[in-house]
Amino acid sequence: MDANVKFVVDKRVLRTIENLEKNNMKGYFVENEKEAIKKIKDIIGEGDTLSVGGSMTLFETGIIDFLRKGKYNFLDRYKEGLSPEDIKEIYRKSFSADAYFTSSNAITEEGELYNVDGRGNRVAAMIYGPDKVIVVVGVNKIVRDLDEAIMRNRELAAPANVKRLNKNTPCSKVGYCMDCNSKDRICNEYVVIRKQADGDRIHVIIIDNDFGY
Ligand code: SF4
Repeated sequence: MDANVKFVVDKRVLRTIENLEKNNMKGYFVENEKEAIKKIKDIIGEGDTLSVGGSMTLFETGIIDFLRKGKYNFLDRYKEGLSPEDIKEIYRKSFSADAYFTSSNAITEEGELYNVDGRGNRVAAMIYGPDKVIVVVGVNKIVRDLDEAIMRNRELAAPANVKRLNKNTPCSKVGYCMDCNSKDRICNEYVVIRKQADGDRIHVIIIDNDFGY
């Protein structure tokens, strides 16, 4: 990355972390995936029960593999051969996990997490249940404020996810949100996490690269 652009991006990240801290969430800026995993090891412990929300970032950064290979009780929703009932059980067990891993559709410079779910299992676990929530994002997820977060979801994250999931919605044709009434709609729960009561619950790891949508 050009050094001048990097200066601007770094400043945005630092502002975001400063505001996350004001909102009683922990924020970390790491150079790469390896550093992110190192940070994760500081937050969780061997034998912990861990779960994940749907996320391309967790695959792209190697975190899913790390959780599979580590000495953890990983509730692996992606394991081959799981029935819909098995997956439903994992979603429910996730609420009592020691730590829940997810990315975020957007994170504002004001220190807020913005997410839109189709079923609500991910945003529900982010709000309440797991003792810790570890949010892993690339710098591409940072936006100025909630208006930009909403826009990011409508114009990028949701249509890209619809394509990935091969859903039949208007945004899968035109590439932006048309607030559809489709039975395949993936946007149902719109959640802003602004502050936390427990300052050791939400840990946001920002990696100096682009990941996910
Ligand atoms: S509401 Fe419908 S059209 Fe809009 S992004 Fe979601 S699935 Fe696509």
